[in-house]
Amino acid sequence: MALFRTKKAVFSAAAAALALALSACGGDSGSGGSGPSASAPYTVASNASLSGSPTFDKMKSNGKVRIGVKQDQPGLGFMDAATGQYSGFDIEIAKWIAASLGYGADKIEFKPIPSANRESAIQNGDIDYYVGTYSITDSRKKQVDFAGPYFITGQGLLVKKDNTTINSEKDLAGKTVCSATGSTPLQNIQKNFPQTKAQSFDTYSQCVDALKNGQVDAVTTDQAILLGYSSQDPDNLKVVGQPFTTEKYGVGVTKGDTALRKFINDMFTNGKDTWQKVYNSTLGKSGTKVDQPAVDNY
Ligand code: GLU
Repeated sequence: MALFRTKKAVFSAAAAALALALSACGGDSGSGGSGPSASAPYTVASNASLSGSPTFDKMKSNGKVRIGVKQDQPGLGFMDAATGQYSGFDIEIAKWIAASLGYGADKIEFKPIPSANRESAIQNGDIDYYVGTYSITDSRKKQVDFAGPYFITGQGLLVKKDNTTINSEKDLAGKTVCSATGSTPLQNIQKNFPQTKAQSFDTYSQCVDALKNGQVDAVTTDQAILLGYSSQDPDNLKVVGQPFTTEKYGVGVTKGDTALRKFINDMFTNGKDTWQKVYNSTLGKSGTKVDQPAVDNY
């Protein structure tokens, strides 16, 4: 495959594939509020029980599950403003967990929560768990626990289509780069790129607006997120370079709720076929192959 000889070619192919995947995403990914989608590769457990999980007990008394998500990250966690429907890989992972715990889509309340507020939302009990491009880190583990990882990506760069000066992270000196408050990519820029000016907003879509307005030179966050934005606006945006960190996505749960964390880890470990179907129906619609990572039962 001559096309795939260079890294750049591989990357462009991946971006084009994701663009196709996103444009091919009709409306069948389902959402909270309208029942499970006909094609869902998971079923709602009828007699789910989980002893020793305060979170599960709370779901039972609430009669629903409250899940923290992103709403502005196409392909991962996205809410269609016209219909209120949520879609994307993270959303499907979130719904799979809910179904395994006995809650169908009509019993899910999705709560959009930006990067900086995730730990407090979990600690305050505002949500039962969080699924939204949430990297497992040692410092976050002091405040919350993580099931997973269920996906691995890495920090990348998004620039305007006509930008010729930024081709990788090596070109960031003297540039202004935008990321989300409370995110690992922002911390990485602030710590390891002293000659780069970091601009932060609550969400990545605000950063993308700032990029389009010329307020910043690049947006930086996980490549999987950036590919979603470039795929939605390929005439104006492009992803450049290769991932330069490793981001392992976990499901954020209340610290100390080991029963819930282990339940979700077992679901991932025993649900390899379902994981693949969830991936194939969202990020992998293009045919791009990615392996499910092994869970870390710490
Ligand atoms: N995965 C990174 C993080 O958890 C960036 C994406 C995000 O902010 O959700 O900080």
